[in-house]
Amino acid sequence: MTNPFEKLVRQHLLALNPYSTARDEFSGEALLFLDANENPYDSDLNRYPDPFQSALRNEVASIKGVSNKNLFISNGSDEAIDLLIRVFCEPGNDKIAYFMPTYGMYGVSAATHAVGTVELLLNEDFEPDVDALAELDGETKILFLCSPNNPTGNLFSLQKLHRILNQFHGIVVVDEAYIDFSDAPSAIKLLNDYPQLVVLQTFSKAWGLAAARMGVAMAHQWIIQLMDKVKLPYNINSLSAGLLLKRINEPQLMKQDVQNIIMEREKLAKSLSGFSFVEKIFPSDANFLLVRFKDGNSVYTFLLSKGIVVRNRTNQPLLKNCLRITIGTAAQNSFLLEQLNTYTNE
Ligand SMILES: *Cc1c(COP(=O)(O)O)cnc(C)c1O
Repeated sequence: MTNPFEKLVRQHLLALNPYSTARDEFSGEALLFLDANENPYDSDLNRYPDPFQSALRNEVASIKGVSNKNLFISNGSDEAIDLLIRVFCEPGNDKIAYFMPTYGMYGVSAATHAVGTVELLLNEDFEPDVDALAELDGETKILFLCSPNNPTGNLFSLQKLHRILNQFHGIVVVDEAYIDFSDAPSAIKLLNDYPQLVVLQTFSKAWGLAAARMGVAMAHQWIIQLMDKVKLPYNINSLSAGLLLKRINEPQLMKQDVQNIIMEREKLAKSLSGFSFVEKIFPSDANFLLVRFKDGNSVYTFLLSKGIVVRNRTNQPLLKNCLRITIGTAAQNSFLLEQLNTYTNE
């Protein structure tokens, strides 16, 4: 039985022959590689990397608790977002949907492909409205959900995700860039039940490898195979792959960072709540705080004048006067608070 979601794939991709390297075309042990026009003088970087990153996929699959067949390593999550749109959305015709306010790349990525966007609105509690999904038409191929959501900081329950997966007719992508900061279970748990589900995670946030550009997409094999088909042959470079292998073998370092960041987040929330010009600090399952000020733009400009850059979200729907503040080290957060102290006194 073929799964009913396969008809969502752009039809020309089914017949596409992907680029194949000479090393894909043989198996066994080679004594000498004279196939790829590389420089023969040995250095750590003279050979092309493994296009499918077999060693890395095995390691990441084991820490994520999935099979290596259900996992794709991406050049940051942003690459996976882009590839999924390329796999499912016909330019000039199809659309993606997401609930605002959320991460900006879904809309930007769609726009670069001439793919339309349907912007739904989260409710006052920043929760998605499941019933709104019934109105989406057949050309809306992908729903992007960000959980914990950037910039609101809240997480959608697995129960809510179940309801969404049962309601929406297309591909559901759950972007879990911040899941390492939350105690809640990952949507990876739902993969077995839903062939249309894709879970994205990244090594850019908790794992501290933003500069290495490493993300991971987990899904049923039919989706992973399509992503493998359309990706650039060498999307992951060996330097980044090596860094990640090293880092995932020391998971306690990441856990320690996460613990410190969460502790700092709670400390910062408490301190900020003491300022008369702060209206609300939203609960956060991530490494940032969304804060509503009496006058968000004025605080934003003030902080810039002190050399501190935070994310101004005051113009986003539902986020009047809100700034998103990334949690820093204890010293960095103290510096922020010291400066804000002088704002009070102005
Ligand atoms: C930071 C972030 C990402 C990460 O993108 P990378 O390309 O992996 O660095 C993805 N999604 C959301 C919601 C983010 O906030």
